[in-house]
Order: sequence, then C-alpha cells, then structure tokens
Amino acid sequence: MRHLALTGGIGSGKSTVAQFFAERGATIIDADAISRDLMEPGQRVLAEVIETFGDHLLDDAGRLDRQALAEVVFSDDEAREQLNAIVHPAVRAEATRQREAAAAADPEDAVIIQDIPLLVETGQADTYDGVIVIYTDHDTRLQRLVETRGMSLADAKARIAAQATDEQRKAVADWVIDNSGSLEDTEAQVDAVWRQLRG
Ligand code: ATP
Repeated sequence: MRHLALTGGIGSGKSTVAQFFAERGATIIDADAISRDLMEPGQRVLAEVIETFGDHLLDDAGRLDRQALAEVVFSDDEAREQLNAIVHPAVRAEATRQREAAAAADPEDAVIIQDIPLLVETGQADTYDGVIVIYTDHDTRLQRLVETRGMSLADAKARIAAQATDEQRKAVADWVIDNSGSLEDTEAQVDAVWRQLRG
C-alpha cells in the first residue's frame, strides 16, 4: 500500500488529475467531497451544525444553505472554530475509514491518493509516502479560474496570492505534473507516474 498526497494551488487541476489516477485504479480521498457528504440531510454532522448555528441555515427542502453558513463564519472566528470542531474530526475519521478500507482490500498494491489543497500551508507533507504536486503556470491558472469558475480576475489573483507559492510546493514534491498544456499531455504524465507507482 502507498499513501500519497496530491496538492496544487487553486485551479491547478487537482480534481482533473485525481480523476485520471482514479481511472487507473487509485483510491482517491477528497476531504472536500467528504465534508459535502457529511452535510447531507440525515447526517449527524449536519444535525450538529444546525443545533449549534440554528435552523435558518436549512432551506425549504431541509438542505444546508452553504452560502448562509459561509456568511455566519466568514467574519466570526469563534463561530468558525466551532464549525471546524464539528466538521474536521468527522472528516478525518471518514478519510481514515476510506483509507483503511482501500488498504484492507488490497494490502500489497493499493495506491491511495489524498487530495489536500493546503498540504504545504498546513505542514503535512512528511506524513505521506510521497507527494504529487500539480503545477499550472500562473496565467493559464488565472484564465481557467475566470473562464470555468466565473471568478473575477482580481478575486482569482487574490486567492492565488493567499496560498503557498509554486516554489514552496515544488520543494516538497516527489513528482510534479505540469497541467499547463492539454489534457492529453497531462494524462501522459499521469501514466508515467502511475507506471512508477505500480512498477
Ligand atoms: P480547486 O482548487 O478549485 O479545487 P482544482 O485544482 O481541483 O481546483 P480543476 O477543477 O481540476 O482544479 O481544474 C480547474 C478548471 O480547469 C476546471 O474547470 C477544469 O476543467 C479545467 N482544466 C483543468 N486542467 C485542464 C487542462 N489541462 N486543459 C484545459 N482545462 C483544464
């Protein structure tokens, strides 16, 4: 079993590359996806969030209004800490469960890739068997964020500037996948990494 981290700046192509690895047989663990699932109706985590912050955060269909929650925690550090104290342990527990299930199913050969956008910022690189960094040149990243996410140029620039730099990410990388070009180019690089992982 190998347990790898996959990281990269906002809009660098983490989800795209994770999907390519998944198609080749890797198990992808995605904390964002887990936290979305834990906020679905009927989940204990959602119930705790509603008990703590109030049922005005539910829409008419009983689903979490993410925008309303974001507004509650945006400028209130204490509320954000309370939210993190509910959500983070649950996300970690579910990530561990998924990792253990994948390792148990294929103890020798499982490749488990954890998608961690803020790996460098949170100082976790050493806890993995290897780190895959997705790099996309700055201008291409800006263009994709504006065109595919509907972000303003100023917002995209500010978000990139708030994160670790490409150099900081490359410093912890065992592999760098350059996603500045076509998807075919990127897929060929994924194949090369995959061959090393399974070779
Ligand atoms: P985030 O940081 O927001 O989670 P991400 O790092 O997961 O983003 P993706 O969602 O994979 O990035 O990619 C960002 C956008 O760029 C998406 O709309 C995706 O379809 C597009 N994209 C990714 N790679 C390429 C590529 N090689 N060529 C063209 N478009 C791409």
